[in-house]
Amino acid sequence: MKEVTPYRRVIIEPNTKWKDKALCIGMDADIFFPERDGQPIQGGRGIYSKARKVCERCPVRAECLNYAFHFNMIEFGMFGGMAPKERKEHFARMRQLLKSIKAHTESKS
Ligand code: SF4
Repeated sequence: MKEVTPYRRVIIEPNTKWKDKALCIGMDADIFFPERDGQPIQGGRGIYSKARKVCERCPVRAECLNYAFHFNMIEFGMFGGMAPKERKEHFARMRQLLKSIKAHTESKS
């Protein structure tokens, strides 16, 4: 039996309202999660090209990316049109920005 990672469940088993509008619902999960045996596979941007095309048209792309950020989903799969390496860099920038905002807010109080 093929292992279903928690990352796949996010897409396969929608449980929040925004996921009802996700374009990937019902699609082959392997397109969005091309890892094997719980390990990310090595490859260029090409391994996510099909997923990327779907995500580009998805009306809940921002919500999907925010969900991944909230749950720190970096290692596997495509979220919000970003592959793991892209998310890792994007999330690092977001955390830095949030840190700056927090420091600024605390300095004002
Ligand atoms: S952005 Fe991509 S992975 Fe996220 S819900 Fe939309 S189609 Fe699915």
